[in-house]
Order: sequence, then structure tokens, then C-alpha cells
Amino acid sequence: MKPIRSVCLTAILIFVAVSSALAQSSMTLSVDATDAARNIVHSKLNIPVKPGTLTLFYPKWIPGEHSPTGPINDLVGLKLSAGGKPIPWQRDDVEMFAFHCDIPQGVTVLDVAFDDVSQPESTASAKLARIKWNRLLVYAQGMNSDAITVKASLKLPTGWRFASALPVVNENKDDVQFKEVSLTQLVDSPAIIGANFRKLPLSSTAPMHEIDIVADTTAALEMKPETLTGLKAIVGEAYALFGARHYRSYQFLVTLSDHGGSEGLEHHESSEDGVGEKAFSDELELLDFAELIGHEYAHSWNGKYRRPVGLATPDFEQPMRGELLWVYEGLTQYLGKVLPARSGLWTAEDFREALAAVAAEMENQSGRQWRPLVDTAVAVQFTYPSPRAWMNYRRRVDYYDEGSLIWLDADVLIRSRSNGKLSLDDFCHRFHGGQDTAPVLKPYTFDDIVNTLNEVTPYDWREFLQARVDAVNPHAPLAGITNGGWKLVYTDKPNTEIRIADHARKSIDLSYSLGMLLKEDGAVMDVNPSSAAFKAGMAPGMKILSVNGRTWSTDVLHEAIAFSKSITAPIEVIVENGSFNETYKLGYHGGERYPHLERDNTKPDLIGEIIKSRAQQSK
Ligand SMILES: [Zn+2]
Repeated sequence: MKPIRSVCLTAILIFVAVSSALAQSSMTLSVDATDAARNIVHSKLNIPVKPGTLTLFYPKWIPGEHSPTGPINDLVGLKLSAGGKPIPWQRDDVEMFAFHCDIPQGVTVLDVAFDDVSQPESTASAKLARIKWNRLLVYAQGMNSDAITVKASLKLPTGWRFASALPVVNENKDDVQFKEVSLTQLVDSPAIIGANFRKLPLSSTAPMHEIDIVADTTAALEMKPETLTGLKAIVGEAYALFGARHYRSYQFLVTLSDHGGSEGLEHHESSEDGVGEKAFSDELELLDFAELIGHEYAHSWNGKYRRPVGLATPDFEQPMRGELLWVYEGLTQYLGKVLPARSGLWTAEDFREALAAVAAEMENQSGRQWRPLVDTAVAVQFTYPSPRAWMNYRRRVDYYDEGSLIWLDADVLIRSRSNGKLSLDDFCHRFHGGQDTAPVLKPYTFDDIVNTLNEVTPYDWREFLQARVDAVNPHAPLAGITNGGWKLVYTDKPNTEIRIADHARKSIDLSYSLGMLLKEDGAVMDVNPSSAAFKAGMAPGMKILSVNGRTWSTDVLHEAIAFSKSITAPIEVIVENGSFNETYKLGYHGGERYPHLERDNTKPDLIGEIIKSRAQQSK
């Protein structure tokens, strides 16, 4: 189904102006990635044109990023020419992503050349890179991306290999020629390239599923047999969960590097999963990887196949509207935990630890006192790249995690009201399932969500969702946990999910004791405004130099927190604030505190039911 698009006068005028300058809508794109390890990728385009004015547009609104994040500042060396003669261009003085030019009489093909210079540690390392086509092309402004076809080719560094969901026509040493596809499909089908490569099939029957891995070292490619078993299981669990697939084949495109940037971006027939070099060998990183895989894979259904109308734009120019991201990302965040638990990549305890961490974080977000959840989604253009400082007060992108708690709440409610006969899986079957198809986009509205939930279990779903999404709520929606047979409790035992996050960002999360997030060197990343740390005068940007008279170390701080229970004196810290040192007294006596779920035996364990393998049940 085509996305709904409101036609305005300016859109019509642009279309007329463009169509007069275009001969046809087919172009070629030659990408030379031989300098990828230096963060430079060279691009050449041949665009059929007609004489007259033409505006070229660089993709601005990137699907899956929900924001105008096209890296326009990385486009350098732009040159337009025809038959070897340069053609001058001018950037639009309001729309920075648009370039105007005049096509001379007699010219039928415009040659465009530029370089994509990515930031170090963003898309490439010395041994691998992610090739994102949207960074490497321009197209005639005003054209629907379905109406343009592109014949792309890719030149690899010598000896490097590649993987992409894009169909290949010809491969000759380091040169790859891809099949002509729509611009929509091209941008949705990135490639990974690398010196160390491994391909592992995840299904033995059609459709083809595989994991393609490029890594900084050959050692990093090694995967434990149980991990491979779990990845194969996740394919079956997703099919059982949704009841149909909307792709011809599926590839997990994994990059393993501590220098190539992290990534998690969904596509119809693949996902970009950029993680650290030790993602397959480190216990915590492997748990994190399993959730990333579950999340991005679920997006093939929830995000690519079914997409909110506001995010189903016809090109890379029209602004996206994010008000339903608590479905797009929130439900995916929920399913991204359910799938690894059902597949054995996570244990039941891992699942509960993840729920406990999310529940505690959302309950303790001070930003929830001023900002309704929907506002974190509506404002995605600036909430996603929010600064780390005062993030607890901003409540950044809670549509992910609080969204996941709302969907857990809905799942438990459906299970309770149907005496265990129905679940959110039934919603997913109706909403995301149907017949197996090739990639297709079926946009939805808030009413479609409410109506489908009502088809599964009659209830006042409109009120249920609006109360949780649109209103300012002093407390997080924890009914899914409490009605699911568990209680959120705090103990001095570290939480697994928090250990994963601390490991990844080299931080010390003291959110539920002192109310601070620190770097391992004592730098303060965030402070909760209702915490002991805030009341003592602390703020992000400060750095702790000493604790109770002893030089800073993580051990010294942990000992002081644990000991706080036994004494009445405050924890005294000396902090650096700019060029000044100051002393603060933290009146805290609760000891170490980390969230966990504790069984409530007065209620059935529905959370245990949620993570039972569905693929096994339906066999
Ligand atoms: Zn997502």
C-alpha cells in the first residue's frame, strides 16, 4: 500500500518543475569504497536529465532514524558535469540539502561526483565499513523514491568481502554490480564490507536467513554453538510470533569492531547490527547483542511492514512525524526482549533483570513529572541526539522503554482477561501477520491500533493508551509487572542489565542510591533532581576527586555507599567544577541499591508465560 500523502500547491509546482528537466527516472551509482578505511568513500552518479533548471536533493530524512539526520556535512568535493564540461551549482539558501543547477541544451545525462567523508569511529574501522547508500547519492528533488530506479555498483578494497540484501548481478574480484532496484529499496539495502568475513546460514529451508559478519579480527568471528542455535531459534520464534513474513530473505549484517561505530538500523530484508569486537565472546556484550538482534529483526514487521502514517513518507525530503513512536519503537523494544528470551539467547532471569532495569529507570525519571511520554516521541528530532547532561530531567527517548512497559501491560491484560487463551501474540498476528509477502508498506493510525486490540480482546484500549501516552504520569506503567506476578524490589546485588550498560559506556550507575550516573574516572554524567546527590549540590560536568578523604576510585565510592547504612555522617566528596574544587555532603544512608523482580506468589506467573517458546508450542 502506498503511503498517504497530502498534496499541497507547492508540491505540485515542484513536481512540474522537476518533470520538465527529467528524461527518465533511472540512474546509475558507482561507489568506490577502496578508501573506506580512511573514512572516505567516493561516489559517481549518472542522472538522466533534460535541459532546464534542476534541483538535486541529498537524502535528509532517513527511514528508521525518524529525523533529518542525513549527514550533509559529510558530502564534500561535489562536482557536476556533462560531457566533461563542468556545470555550476548553488546550494539552496534555506534547504541546505538541495542543490540547484541549469542543464544546458543538448545535455541528456548529468554526471555527479562527490566524496562521503564520515566521522572517524562512525561507519568504518581500518578493517571494515558499513556502506549506506543514502550517504552516497543525490536525486531529482520532488521525485517519489519508488519512481526512481538505480543501478548501483561497489568497488571493494582489495581482498575485502561484502554482504547486502541487494540482489547481485555480477561479481568480478573486488567489483560488484547490483540489480537495478527502486531508490526506496536501495536505501533500505545497505552493505557491510570487511577484511575478515563470515557467513552463517540460519535456516535450512526457504526463505533464506543468514548472519553475515565482518570483524576487525578473525578471532572475533568465532561464535559459540549455543549462540548459533539461539540465532536459528529466533528466526522460528519471530515467525511463530507474527504468523507471516514480509521479506524474500533476511540477513543480519553484523559489524564487530570497537572502532567502527555502534549501529542498530532496521530494514525490510536486513538489519545493520554494529557492535563491539568481543560481542560474541564477552558474556555481557553477548546478552546486549541478543537484544539488538531481537529488536532490529522485529522491526522488519513492526516498523518496515507496518509503519505509522507520519513515518511513511514518499521520499527522503518530506518531514516525518513521530507521535506513534511508542508503537514503532516501544513495541519493538518489548518484542526485542521477548524474542531472545523465547529463543534461549537469554535466560528467564536475564529477561526479568531487563524488565526490572527498565521499570526502575522509568519510575525514577524526573522528566516524567513535566513531560508526557508522547512528547518524547513528537520531539524525536531533538530528543534522540539529546545531550547526556540532565538526561534524567529531560527524559530523552522514553518512547522506547516506557513504550515497552505499556506493551507488557497490554500483553498481561489480554492474558488475564482471556484466562491465558490469548496474548499480545494474537495482536501481532492480526496486525503484522496475514499472508507471507515480499517487502510492502502498510501504514497505520492510532485508531488502527485501538481497533486491532479490540478485535483481540474488547476493552477500552483508547482510554488505556491515551492515559499512559498522552498524560503526564508521576509513576511509570508497572501494572504489567505487578499483574504479571512479580514485584519491583531493590537490593544490594547488581542488576545484569545495568552491568551491561555500565560495561558498554564505562560508567557507574548509582541511579537508585546516590541518584547519579558517573564515568569510571569520577566524572558526573547525570544527576537525578530528586536525589541525595542533587540536594547536596552536584551536577553533570563535575568530577569527583575524593570520597570521605580518600582519593577517587570506584572501589572507594562503592565502599562508602555500602557503609552509609551503618553511619549517620554524610558521604563527603571533593569535586572539581571547572577550575574550582568544592566539598559536598551527601545525606544518603540506603546502601547499594539495584532493581530486581521478586516473585509475588499470590498471582500467576504471566511473565514466565510470555517468554515460553511459541515455536515449540506450535510444533
Ligand atoms: Zn528500533
